[in-house]
Amino acid sequence: MAQRIRPLSYAIVATLAAVAIWFTPTLEKRQVFAMEPVVVSKPGLEPADFLLSPLVVEASNTELVDTLAIGGVIRSSLYNALNESGVGVLPPSARHQLAWSLADIFEYKVDMSRDLHDGDKFHLLVERLQKPNGAIIVNKIIGARLALSNSRSPLEAIHFDTPGSSTGQFYDASGMSLRAAFLRAPLTFRRISSVFGARKHPIFGEWRNHTGTDYAAAEGTPVRAIGDGVVIFAGKKGGYGNMIDIRHRNGMISRYGHMRGFASGMRPGARVAMGSTIGYVGLTGWATGPHLHFEIRVNGVARDPKLALQSRSGEPIPADERSLFQKMRNQTLASLNDARANIAE
Ligand SMILES: [Zn+2]
Repeated sequence: MAQRIRPLSYAIVATLAAVAIWFTPTLEKRQVFAMEPVVVSKPGLEPADFLLSPLVVEASNTELVDTLAIGGVIRSSLYNALNESGVGVLPPSARHQLAWSLADIFEYKVDMSRDLHDGDKFHLLVERLQKPNGAIIVNKIIGARLALSNSRSPLEAIHFDTPGSSTGQFYDASGMSLRAAFLRAPLTFRRISSVFGARKHPIFGEWRNHTGTDYAAAEGTPVRAIGDGVVIFAGKKGGYGNMIDIRHRNGMISRYGHMRGFASGMRPGARVAMGSTIGYVGLTGWATGPHLHFEIRVNGVARDPKLALQSRSGEPIPADERSLFQKMRNQTLASLNDARANIAE
C-alpha cells in the first residue's frame, strides 16, 4: 500500500513545487546607477570578499549595477597586474576573469603571451554587477585601453551593442571592429603556461634556424586555426611530428607542429574556420616537452607572425549607427582618460 502511495505523493510535491516556482516573481529587476565611475586609486590590502563595500545596503531581489575604472602597470604579468588593481572592488574570481577578457578583446591585435612587456599600461572601464545573493561579477567591459611600451599609440576598445544583435562587439576609436581576419595566436591566452618574454627552443636552445614560435602549454590543450582556410597537409613530418598546414585566402600558410593528435576531419581539402580546434598540443617530433610550434609561411618562406598577422581594421560600424557610437565612444574615452589621470601607477 505504502509503496503505491509514495510515487503519487512525490508527484503531488513536484507539481506543487513547479507551481510555486512559476509564481515566484523573477529577479530581473535592476537598479542602474549613473555612469560616474568609481575610481580605484590605490590597490590596498586584500580584504576578504565579503568586506567589499556593498553597493547598496537594503536590496533583496534587485541586481545592482555600477561602473568601475581600473588601471595599472604590467610588471610580472597581465594576470598579476589585474589581480592587484582590482583588489577591494572585485572578488578574486572576477579579477582572474578580467585578465582573460582583456586578452580576448585584443586577440586580433596582440599576442598577449609575447607582445607584453614590463611597464605596459592598461585601463579598463567595467560594469560591476551585484546579484541579489551578494555575489559580485564583472557584467561587461565597457572600454579598454592598452598602452604597449614599444608602440606609439595605445590600443583602444569600445564596447558597442548594435541594435538587433545579442552580443556586443568591440570597436576602435574610429569605429572599426577589432575583429579581423586572423587571430594573433594559435592558443587562447588562458591556456598558455608561460606568459612573458622570449623563450629558447626547448631542444635547440638558441636555434638559429628556428623559424617558428613556440608556445608552452599542457599536453592536450586545444590548438585553434588562426583564420579561415583549407587544410593542405595533416600528418607526420620529420622534426615537426604531427603537423598541420592551413592555406588562407591571401595565400599565406599557417603551420602547427608537435601535436599529440588532430581534431576529427583534418585531412587535405578540409575547410576550417577561424578559432576552430584543429588538434591538440603534444610533443611529437623534436620536442622534449609539450609545446606548440607555430609558423607563418609566405611563398614557402617562414615570416615573423608579428608582421605577417598585423591586422588591418575590421568592418566599420554601420552608417546609421555611427552617431550613437560616437556618443558612446566619447563618453567611454573620457572616462578612461579620467581613470588614467586618477589612478596611481
Ligand atoms: Zn619550435
